[in-house]
Amino acid sequence: MQHPYFGKTISLTTKHKKASALALPLLAGVGLRVREIEVDTDIFGTFSGEIERKGTPLETALKKARLGMRKGSSELGLATEGSFGAHPYIPFIAGCEETIVLIDDVNGFHLSETIISAKTNFSFCEVRKLEDAESFLRQAKFPSHGLIVKPNQLGIKFIHRLGRLLGNFQSSTIKGIQDRCSLKLAIDKCAALSNDGLARVETDMRAYMNPTRLRVIRELGVKLARRLRSSCTECGCPGFGQTTVSGFLNCSECGCTSESPSHEIHSCARCEYSKTVPRSDGVTSLDPMYCQRCNP
Ligand SMILES: [Zn+2]
Ligand SMILES: [Zn+2]
Repeated sequence: MQHPYFGKTISLTTKHKKASALALPLLAGVGLRVREIEVDTDIFGTFSGEIERKGTPLETALKKARLGMRKGSSELGLATEGSFGAHPYIPFIAGCEETIVLIDDVNGFHLSETIISAKTNFSFCEVRKLEDAESFLRQAKFPSHGLIVKPNQLGIKFIHRLGRLLGNFQSSTIKGIQDRCSLKLAIDKCAALSNDGLARVETDMRAYMNPTRLRVIRELGVKLARRLRSSCTECGCPGFGQTTVSGFLNCSECGCTSESPSHEIHSCARCEYSKTVPRSDGVTSLDPMYCQRCNP
């Protein structure tokens, strides 16, 4: 049977060419064509900090998708939102959280999928000159991955130098650096502007500057396509899948209860129908290594 989305077109709101990651999984998975709608999504917040993001990644992604749907006069909309920082489960490493939303105004529902992953180059360093950044550059996968440079500390010196001409933070941030020559110039300029003589070099997390991030977004597209292939047995709506968890695993050694869930709850995005099923990873008991009593 043909998927209800087969041959249809969905609007993807993006400023940074995300269709290169999402088009193939959705076309191959459910026959859905992705059309990029270019919108200046910086109004919802920037990774480099000039504009702060308000609301959760899911709320932001929904607003982005709506904006693209309006602009593209489309009843199907798609958007993603990424967050980067300390990994939520693995100590001392960086992590990313990517969320994708699909809005379907024909059938009247929306759904989302999220990936939390350690696959990211998210990092920064503070240096006086280019030569001090060598190990960071390897870790950041430069130059295949872009960089951002800004003065480490802006104060009196900065305001004095730039005066009223460029008197804001944004103008001193240089984004999308992909070669050593531009990087050296940017570090020298920003170090000279900074109160402490240091330039802050950051990984550029915008999708088209970051192939590692694009790979995670592609994985998210595959996850979404898989979800869309499963339909609700009650109302036939596509996108039946895991929405939350329930229950608690018992330790295989001492039998005591843990915080880890034992079941998944799968729900319909449109009607009330949901069902509780065992974990899809096949885990039925807690490894004593993670037990509070066996391994405190
Ligand atoms: Zn135990
Ligand atoms: Zn349903």
